[in-house]
Formats: sequence, C-alpha cells, structure tokens
Amino acid sequence: MKLILLGAPGAGKGTVAKLLTAVDGSVQISTGDILRGAVTAGTELGKEAAGYMKRGDLVPDSLIMGIMEARLQESDCEKGFLLDGFPRTIPQAEELTELLKKVDIQLDMAVEIDVPKDIILDRLCTRRTCENPDCQAIYNVKSNPPKVEGICDKCGAKAIQREDETEEAISHRLETYNEKTAPLIDFYKEKGLLLSVPATSSDAVIEAVKKKLNL
Ligand code: AMP
Repeated sequence: MKLILLGAPGAGKGTVAKLLTAVDGSVQISTGDILRGAVTAGTELGKEAAGYMKRGDLVPDSLIMGIMEARLQESDCEKGFLLDGFPRTIPQAEELTELLKKVDIQLDMAVEIDVPKDIILDRLCTRRTCENPDCQAIYNVKSNPPKVEGICDKCGAKAIQREDETEEAISHRLETYNEKTAPLIDFYKEKGLLLSVPATSSDAVIEAVKKKLNL
C-alpha cells in the first residue's frame, strides 16, 4: 500500500504505520525518525534541523524534499510505503504530487487519524521514545510502559521523553499543525484521496484502512 498518514502530533501515526507494515510489508518512512537519527549522528542535516525541532517548528521544506526525493526511490519502497509525518505543508504536498508523477507512482490514499485534543495532549506528555536512532520504539508511561522503567524492551537503550515534548514545545507543535499541516486534509479531500478515521485506537484505523483497500 502507498499511504500518507495525516494527523496531529500524538494522533498515533507512528504506531499505525508500524502495524500496517505487518499487513503487506510496506515500509514506514518517518521524517521525524530520520531527522532525529541525523541529529544524534551529528550530520550536516542534523545540525541544520536541530534548532527547529527543539522549538517545535517545522524544518524548511527544501531540507525535507531533499531527503524524501531520494528515500522514495530506494528499492524497499517498491512494495509500498507509509509516509509518517510527511508531507507537513502544502508546498511539500504539491512537490510530492509532482515527484510521484515523475517516478510514476500512484498514491492509494491519505489517511487522517482524527483524535480529540485532550487525548492528544495527555498522550504527548506521557509518551516515551527509545533514544536509539535505529529503534525509536514508542511507549506510554500510563498505557504501554516499558517492562523496566526507562529502558526500551526491544533494544535495551534508554526510553526518554523527547526534547520537543516539553509542555511549551508540545503546544507550539500543535499550533504549527493547525496552521501548516491541517490544510492538507482539504488538499487530499479535493483530490478524492482522503480517508478520515475518527479514532482513539490504532486497531480501528488499521481496520478502516484494510476495509477501504479490500485487504
Ligand atoms: P515528528 O516525529 O513527526 O513529530 O517530527 C518531529 C519534528 O521533526 C517536527 O516537529 C519537525 O521539527 C520535524 N519534521 C518532521 N517531519 C517534518 C516535515 N515533513 N517537514 C518539516 N519538519 C518536519
């Protein structure tokens, strides 16, 4: 499947993407994971992106498009891909449309995961993320804690609160989402590609996607 996952930070895009990879082997492409990996590795990309990310601002479109143009043409994308956190702005969506046309790839749909704001806020404040850039497993101190507090079950690295998950950065990220990313819902609706799922559980989203794609 070739999907875009839309939704506010904390809506569950990453969790849904991970579950969907198990359905048909499509790969999850998370621009947030790629950028965090670059920050940890101290690459040029990471150095450029770090300040924006820490504040909860979007990194410039040009940086993201450079990453995605190369990533979407890697061979593991042939089976399908789940775009998690990209596109995030109308210019990114327009450039993605052009890019997919150029490489002759047809998108199945954009899935909007619509979660009430109070649930989003609670989730972001209680989320923990594995700091190992190759893992980045997600936990929640209330609903899905690691077996040993602060330690990732999967790889043994530390499961930490992300730097952009302070109350101030979270509220800025949500404002940025409303201003810059929410307009993508109408963008894909107008193209007849939107599936909107009002959902608080990842399983409900998986079922809706499978039903729509006859899987
Ligand atoms: P995420 O893990 O998707 O919440 O992304 C974390 C941070 O990475 C965001 O707050 C942005 O600073 C940056 N980021 C991730 N994806 C994008 C994107 N498509 N465009 C611009 N910035 C992005």
